[in-house]
Amino acid sequence: MNCEIDEGKLVCHMEVIDILPKEKETFIENSEVLVVAGRGVKKEEDLSMLRELADLMGGQVACTRPMAESGWLDAKYQIGLSGRTVRPKLIITCGVSGAVQFVAGMNHSDTIFAINNDPKAPIFKSAHYCLVGDLYEILPKLIARIKEKKGV
Ligand SMILES: Cc1cc2nc3c(=O)[nH]c(=O)nc-3n(C[C@H](O)[C@H](O)[C@H](O)COP(=O)(O)OP(=O)(O)OC[C@H]3O[C@@H](n4cnc5c(N)ncnc54)[C@H](O)[C@@H]3O)c2cc1C
Repeated sequence: MNCEIDEGKLVCHMEVIDILPKEKETFIENSEVLVVAGRGVKKEEDLSMLRELADLMGGQVACTRPMAESGWLDAKYQIGLSGRTVRPKLIITCGVSGAVQFVAGMNHSDTIFAINNDPKAPIFKSAHYCLVGDLYEILPKLIARIKEKKGV
């Protein structure tokens, strides 16, 4: 059966102004290196320190649930039971206590490096390398050391 269509109705009235390429996104699940921000990170601007470390190692920043809930990082960066499950080659947790709901999302990582100022923090039970101390003292030193090694 044929039907008549007014040709005017077939014309698209949308004008393409510009086509912008979408930036390729690397999900935390695909990252080989993750630097995780926990509540030990006191101010939002301090995340830049973690980003610098992650950039130096070709990785990215992830977080615990309270950090995502505070709005400092998007929920897609949250690791754990109600977040994402990751298995990177290296994960560095900074000021993360190591609650079961968090650990469930990362305990199969190849190397777990934990920084926490509480020697009794549960994260140390899962970590391969335990750094007991203030992340605000440790991270700048770590960043400086990596830069020195890389000749940056
Ligand atoms: C149903 C349910 C689902 C959940 N799902 C998730 C989930 O998917 N992911 C998740 O992360 N949580 C989840 N949670 C929340 C979880 O129980 C914890 O509350 C949360 O993981 C704690 O986050 P945190 O380690 O950043 O904070 P905290 O537990 O407050 O730990 C902060 C740590 O930082 C240390 N610290 C403080 N200052 C410094 C410093 N200057 N230097 C070094 N260390 C320092 C402290 O000693 C402490 O150990 C869930 C909870 C429930 C009930």
